Amino acid sequence: MTIFEKIIARQIPAEILLETDKLIAFRDVNPQAPVHVLIVPKRVLPRLAEATPADREILGELLLAAGELAKKLDLKSGFRVVINSGPDAGESVPHLHVHLLGKRQLGWPPG
Ligand code: 5GP
Repeated sequence: MTIFEKIIARQIPAEILLETDKLIAFRDVNPQAPVHVLIVPKRVLPRLAEATPADREILGELLLAAGELAKKLDLKSGFRVVINSGPDAGESVPHLHVHLLGKRQLGWPPG
C-alpha cells in the first residue's frame, strides 16, 4: 500500500479538506507554501506517465477539485498546480497526486 492508500484507509492521519467517492484532498505533511494540498485519486494510478484515455474522467476531476479548493482556501491572488511524474521531476510517492500551492509568491521557472 502507498502512503496515500493508508491515508485513504484512515490508517495514517491527515488533515482532510475534501473527499468524494473518487478522490481525497489533504494537507501535505511537509508544506512548501502556506497552502500545500495534495489531491489524490482513490483508485491507484502510479503516475501521469501511465495515464490512458480510460483515466480521462478522474484527471478532469482532480483539476476541478484543485479549482474548488483554491476558492475554498481563498487563493484569490493565484495558485499553482503541480504533478511530478517520474524521477527527474522528484516524484516520491508512486500514486498520482496533484499539488495545490498558494499563499506565497511562487518562482518561475520551478527548481
Ligand atoms: P511527490 O514528491 O511525489 O510529488 O509528492 C509527494 C508529497 O507527499 C510530498 O510533498 C510529501 O511531503 C508528501 N507526503 C509524504 N508522506 C506524507 C504523509 O504521510 N502525509 C502527508 N499528508 N503528506 C505526505
